[in-house]
Amino acid sequence: MTVLESYPPTNNNTTPTRSKFLSDEHRPERTRRFRGVSYVFPIDAAKEAVPVIDLADRLCGPGGLRRAGKEWAGRCPLPDHEDRSPSFTANPERNVWFCHGCLRGGDVVTLAQLAWNYAQRDSHIAAADLLHEFGHVIPQRPAAYFRKQERQKPIRDAIEETKKNIVRRRLFRHLILPLIDAIEDDEERSRELDRAWTDFQRLAS
Ligand SMILES: [Zn+2]
Repeated sequence: MTVLESYPPTNNNTTPTRSKFLSDEHRPERTRRFRGVSYVFPIDAAKEAVPVIDLADRLCGPGGLRRAGKEWAGRCPLPDHEDRSPSFTANPERNVWFCHGCLRGGDVVTLAQLAWNYAQRDSHIAAADLLHEFGHVIPQRPAAYFRKQERQKPIRDAIEETKKNIVRRRLFRHLILPLIDAIEDDEERSRELDRAWTDFQRLAS
């Protein structure tokens, strides 16, 4: 069957089921090896470095997870779900988790984010915490980022310098010029003006 023939899907049930969810997240080709290289950001690095089952195990505590076929099941460790029955499952093969009670699931970073009460937009911080918790190096920004910063530095410096010059001239006009204007002798006034501007630039730089 081609993709077109199978579309629209016959299943009209929009409630996410475990199998649908797991197949969405299914990444069999993924390796567990942590590369620890600097070009990956924390979220990708954490997904690669920390298996879901390891975090699930830590969150559920010793004996908190029991084997159920290919999965492990236990009481949901998420702080806002008071789970009386073991609704939480982790699948080490597919490297995903799902809670049948609160209908949430995902990868290891989602689990860390929800378990440690981070907002979704702070997922990268949850990921960094996760790497730290499991003894991995938190990756730095990619080298390209630093190269870009380096390329833009002359422009940023020029803008800063221009701003400083404007402030310098304004201060000079308001603070120093009235004093120099008060000098009656033309030659002396001109000499003082040169000196004052030189002195002022040195002071205000
Ligand atoms: Zn739950």
